[in-house]
Amino acid sequence: MNDCNDVTSFPQEALPPDHRSGFVALVGKPNVGKSTLLNAWAGQKIAIVSEKPQTTRNRIRAIVTKPEAQVIFVDTPGIHEPHHKLGEFMVETATRAVPDADLVLFVADASHPPSHEDRSIAKLIAPKGATIIALNKVDLLPSAALKTRLAEYAALCEHALLMPLSATEGTGVSELMSAVIDRLPLGPRYYPEDQVTDREERFIVAELVREQVLEQLRQEVPHSVAVLVDEFKERPEKGLIYISANVFVERESQKGIIIGQAGSRLKAIGRAARQEIQHLLGCKVYLDLWVKVKKNWRKDENELRRLGYALPKKG
Ligand code: GDP
Ligand code: MG
Repeated sequence: MNDCNDVTSFPQEALPPDHRSGFVALVGKPNVGKSTLLNAWAGQKIAIVSEKPQTTRNRIRAIVTKPEAQVIFVDTPGIHEPHHKLGEFMVETATRAVPDADLVLFVADASHPPSHEDRSIAKLIAPKGATIIALNKVDLLPSAALKTRLAEYAALCEHALLMPLSATEGTGVSELMSAVIDRLPLGPRYYPEDQVTDREERFIVAELVREQVLEQLRQEVPHSVAVLVDEFKERPEKGLIYISANVFVERESQKGIIIGQAGSRLKAIGRAARQEIQHLLGCKVYLDLWVKVKKNWRKDENELRRLGYALPKKG
């Protein structure tokens, strides 16, 4: 990938001559276990950083640094039908992230046969040579059914390497990492560990809140949600970081849905997001969430820019 020319601006320790590194596009429907898999690999060695501002939403999700390799997982936004400008943008970034990557890791759920969405993802990644299909959640499948299921997914993408695993039980997880590393080119470390600036933290915090909103309201409030962090203040006297964030929706009715009965939904979203943020920042967090209506923000390019979505240039 070419946006890493500042690669060696930090001290590189002596790396083995066969050190490998590269960018892995992580694709797959929601809920197939991508986060669980990243966490299973993470241990202490993970750093979560965002991409540069111009490539908002085409962010780096996780970096796994090992003595012999550095693997940079690039999060490709979900593969959505382009109903709106934001949708078009997300499809475009997803489409761009794939050719830029050294390898595509397509995570799928073994407990179901391939769905319509799995097929569209397979179509999107088909031109890419280096592909691994990680067939997760094999623990949910009777072992007699595994062979048929593997064949169904193998048919999606003939040149892909198919690897069954269970991210929650840990089976096949390290084998998958070895297969990923084997397919990366020789190269240096692109990132030092734990390089997370304040700007990036704000952005990731907003993404973590947005993720929880989508997670907990999948059916009701599709993608009408944007999150902007308003305040991010260290309060050493209280031993915590105070974060205030606005959750923007398009309609009053969506606001009501997010807030829920007596605020119960918003509380649950805040609780889950706070846990993720505390994990990221490694300290206690007080999270203040506000839900606000911004009519048709998705159709308004200026509004999208103001909210921090870097739209592709026209022309
Ligand atoms: P993501 O949306 O792709 O990031 O999926 P998550 O990592 O959030 O996982 C979605 C759900 O699937 C969670 O409830 C996980 O605990 C569960 N899950 C993930 N991996 C496995 C697995 O290997 N086996 C089983 N049974 N559940 C899993
Ligand atoms: Mg996830």
